[in-house]
Amino acid sequence: MTQWFRRKSNKINTISKKDTKEGTWIKCPNCGAVLSQNFLIENFSCCRSCNFHFKMTPKEYVKLIFDEYEELWENIKSQDPLNFVASKSYKDQLKKYNEQPGVSDAIRVFSGKIHTMALNLCVMDFSFIGGSMGSVVGEKISRAITLSQTKRIPLVIICSSGGARMQEGAISLMQLAKICSKLSEFSSKTNLLITILTNPTMGGTTASYAMLGDVILAEPNALIGFAGQRVIKQTIGEDLPEGFQKAEFLKEHGFIDDILARDKMKETLFSLINFFSSKEDVKFNEA
Ligand SMILES: [Zn+2]
Repeated sequence: MTQWFRRKSNKINTISKKDTKEGTWIKCPNCGAVLSQNFLIENFSCCRSCNFHFKMTPKEYVKLIFDEYEELWENIKSQDPLNFVASKSYKDQLKKYNEQPGVSDAIRVFSGKIHTMALNLCVMDFSFIGGSMGSVVGEKISRAITLSQTKRIPLVIICSSGGARMQEGAISLMQLAKICSKLSEFSSKTNLLITILTNPTMGGTTASYAMLGDVILAEPNALIGFAGQRVIKQTIGEDLPEGFQKAEFLKEHGFIDDILARDKMKETLFSLINFFSSKEDVKFNEA
């Protein structure tokens, strides 16, 4: 019976596991298509069959958006203000993450150019404690706001977050107030803030800067909300509509302005900045 499974022709080549390096092939969690690592790199980490958007690192976003750039405030790290210990110590957790090159917290800030236009960009990193918003995220965004305001440069924040960082307790919650008060001054002076919500953008991040953009965009199928579906369902005691908290549903109901696919990200940002800078009272880069 095993004869049935024997290869009869030598012309058929199959790739055995030994021939592929570990991690070369990735299965799409949405449709099951098998994609090569190289394909994903060339196609902005989007699935060929269903356009599922895989998570991208801050560096990948930066390469996608900027023609030239530099990173700002790379070495700001959390000091564990509460000496927090639960199942593991927060200090040890931070130490482990900080060992990776270039990773200091759940956000990285860059200043650069798209074609000729200057732009400041904050990108959240979900792989760092779930993209949680702690004191470092608050501080870096606040500095980016101040810098953009002083130099009259548009600011873009790419959000990806589970919410506030529990390990920093109330200090983490204070970041909402800190960032929002900064943004209130920022937007009163005809500056431009564009937020891009990626999968997932939840909790304190949605409750503050993510929803305060002059233009709010989201990646296709991104989960966006404050509390999770189960909590809401239990609280209101009702079934929730299909696709509730997905980017497409939120666009239909006016919470966000548009869905932005990754291959259009650079050019859309460029035309948005051009559009706003053509207004009479807005002049960017004229500090
Ligand atoms: Zn897929």
